[in-house]
Amino acid sequence: MEAYLYELLENKKVRCNLCNHRCFIKEGKRGICGVRENQNGILKSLVYGRLIAQHVDPIEKKPLYHVLPGSLSYSIATVGCNFKCRFCQNADIAQLPADHKGMIVGDLYSPQDVVSAAQQANCRSIAYTYTEPTVFFETAYDTAKLAHEKGIRNVFVTNGYMTSEALHMISPYLDAANVDLKAFNDNFYKEQCSAKRKHVMDTLRLMKSLGIFLEVTTLLIPTLNDNKGELQQLASFIVDSLGPETPWHISRFHPTYKLTDRPSTPAESIHQARRIGLDAGLRYVYSGNLPGDEGENTFCYSCGKHLIERWGYHISKNVISKGKCPKCDATIDGIGI
Ligand code: SF4
Repeated sequence: MEAYLYELLENKKVRCNLCNHRCFIKEGKRGICGVRENQNGILKSLVYGRLIAQHVDPIEKKPLYHVLPGSLSYSIATVGCNFKCRFCQNADIAQLPADHKGMIVGDLYSPQDVVSAAQQANCRSIAYTYTEPTVFFETAYDTAKLAHEKGIRNVFVTNGYMTSEALHMISPYLDAANVDLKAFNDNFYKEQCSAKRKHVMDTLRLMKSLGIFLEVTTLLIPTLNDNKGELQQLASFIVDSLGPETPWHISRFHPTYKLTDRPSTPAESIHQARRIGLDAGLRYVYSGNLPGDEGENTFCYSCGKHLIERWGYHISKNVISKGKCPKCDATIDGIGI
């Protein structure tokens, strides 16, 4: 399928304007993500409708804790990613084209197929997730548009590297996003992900201004991004630029893919980062990948009442009433909460 968001240059070269790499692609070549190819001066998406994963997940798994809590989200992905994170948790599908000589696999499904499957499974949202939804933008856009017509919400789980053009295009259909802010350190982005932090921060600000409900995730990796000062700066950025109502998930790292020389994150580090977020003024700061931890729960930011009790992805109690704390009447932020 012909890609969205590119321009034709001289001698059949093209520039892809989908993500902030803005790849300059010669005839017969692909961009950094490995799933967009210049075929005779026309940029083609090689993954349109070619799904490598389709699952019915609790929306808490994204993680989105403040969007339709307790509901199911129909979750899809194709292969490919525009980042090269050395600690990628889904490298087998995200880095498949990069690590296996351009291999593209997946079964063909139309947007109508996906929306119908979501309806049949009683999903209240479709999540574009597991790999990077930006690189399967055409599939996500066409599906999201159709989903809205059927009253189903759309959520992205993303590294936040799409261009402002891409974001403006999909924003009418994008209700919420969980965006990774992987570190508050330019070298980390460069060395661990082959990307630039600035673009992610710009995307977060633009998403906020476009009215997309945001949650932010940081995977805490021992010695690489767990510096106290950097975490304080990161938390302050969320408070000042995105608002104290933005939930922040601090997730536990386990050695994987190309990053196997660091230990799993100690629980104390997650607890310390959580304290930093709360001290910075964030209303909701969560522990991730620590099942049973107190930090998985939602507490009222005003009176401290225990509002949602979670174990992993599952909710065992939710006492929020019409978006309000039943004890002090504070408004609890989110969509359909
Ligand atoms: S989406 Fe792919 S081809 Fe387009 S700019 Fe990003 S990495 Fe390059």
